[in-house]
Amino acid sequence: MTDDREFILDAALGRLARYLRTLGYDAVYLKDASGPDVLRETLKTGRTLLTRRRDLAKRPDIGSYLVKSDRVLEQVAEVAAKFGLEMTHRAMTRCIECNVLLEPVAKEDVLEELPPHVRKTQSIFSRCPGCGRIYWPGTHFARSLARLMRALGQGDE
Ligand SMILES: [Zn+2]
Repeated sequence: MTDDREFILDAALGRLARYLRTLGYDAVYLKDASGPDVLRETLKTGRTLLTRRRDLAKRPDIGSYLVKSDRVLEQVAEVAAKFGLEMTHRAMTRCIECNVLLEPVAKEDVLEELPPHVRKTQSIFSRCPGCGRIYWPGTHFARSLARLMRALGQGDE
């Protein structure tokens, strides 16, 4: 099942936000927000709140999910099961830092910015229109995705 659900995460869930972005999901992270700020932002955006706070998870006026595990990979598994997240479908389509969609970019256009070994071995690139970061298969980003897949039992090994 593919779901275009958009998430908003409270201060305790920064690593989970990065993993959701790795999977291609829109995940806003409220780094230093207090409880009332989180509530206001959730109401304003209509996003689904992922939280570690019971008081927020109980609110009837917002869509929310109380994350139970302390461990980030288990948190990803929880959220994936709860919302039927697609695990590979749109992985590596979103900047892990900015939460914006990546744009494909030609190798010639980024050649100067690539480390030599990447220049030699890689051919597919995308760029974040927000921070300018370049992504390719084999980045730290891709490796954390592979680790995630293995942890969730959806990888090759
Ligand atoms: Zn970015």
